[in-house]
Amino acid sequence: MTDLPPLPSLGGSPGLDGLPPLPTLGAVNRRPPANGARRAWQPATVTAVSDLTPTARSFFFALPAGTERHVPGQHYDIRLTAPDGSQAQRSYSIASAPGARGDAPTVELSVERIADGAVSPYLHDLVHVGDSVELRGPFGGWFIWRGDTPVVLVGGGSGIVPLMSMLRYWRALGRPVPLHLVVSVRTPEGLYYAEELAAEGASVTVVYTRAAPEGAERPPGRLSAADLAHVVRPFLGLPGATAYVCGGAGFAETASQLLVELGLDRSAVRVERFGPG
Ligand SMILES: Cc1cc2nc3c(=O)[nH]c(=O)nc-3n(C[C@H](O)[C@H](O)[C@H](O)COP(=O)(O)OP(=O)(O)OC[C@H]3O[C@@H](n4cnc5c(N)ncnc54)[C@H](O)[C@@H]3O)c2cc1C
Repeated sequence: MTDLPPLPSLGGSPGLDGLPPLPTLGAVNRRPPANGARRAWQPATVTAVSDLTPTARSFFFALPAGTERHVPGQHYDIRLTAPDGSQAQRSYSIASAPGARGDAPTVELSVERIADGAVSPYLHDLVHVGDSVELRGPFGGWFIWRGDTPVVLVGGGSGIVPLMSMLRYWRALGRPVPLHLVVSVRTPEGLYYAEELAAEGASVTVVYTRAAPEGAERPPGRLSAADLAHVVRPFLGLPGATAYVCGGAGFAETASQLLVELGLDRSAVRVERFGPG
């Protein structure tokens, strides 16, 4: 697949750490990709593994020198090859913020274990520090955020992963624009990156759907307009304000619909779906 040339201008603010340009459709001249290797499978070594919840685990991969820095929101594909030669591949969003330019990148991928799944249980049960798996990426030219527009982030379950990359990047840039993250999760034990989120204080809202922590003001229940109204209001009318919604198909549909009902323009709501749930 040929890479596509960058947009002429994104109107990004200067000094935003120079992330690579957006690919765009409707190319006039197709040029060789700036980094032709990025769509090729490459070995990546697991340098660390850490448990996020009883069913979610982060894998930290060291990528070969020269690998392109990602833009928050992008994902990698992982390919596994069985001894009989059969292969399976799945996409996993990048949870980490882009590293410093010129560093050999390490990326954090956070994987929910789907009990009857083909790839996620394999990663959880059989991939350890020192192992090597094949990765390809980073991919994604629409569900990405460069740190230069006000953002409302809404994630359900593992859908928080690409939003975490955005939150971490925002923090690394010195919180240059308004940002609010809303996470919907079934129980307190299911919350990814819990300590880091707690440290963000008022910029993060956690909505519990089945069991809330003791003393929580909000009883457990599905994400509603009431949960989002006070989050969205300050963003209405802010130039460039964009919402990123990520989660299972049902969650993504409901959350994006609520954002539009609360006044965000449909074109300002970007959605990534991870699975059926
Ligand atoms: C762009 C993109 C980014 C993604 N990023 C992440 C990520 O950061 N972390 C992550 O854990 N997953 C992520 N996913 C989902 C991931 O690619 C796999 O689909 C998921 O790990 C299941 O793969 P599996 O082989 O274990 O299950 P499969 O063998 O593919 O599926 C087994 C069963 O589980 C169901 N299922 C599949 N995915 C889910 C799901 N997410 N929730 C509930 N049921 C499901 C299937 O319908 C099927 O019934 C992403 C998907 C996309 C498209």
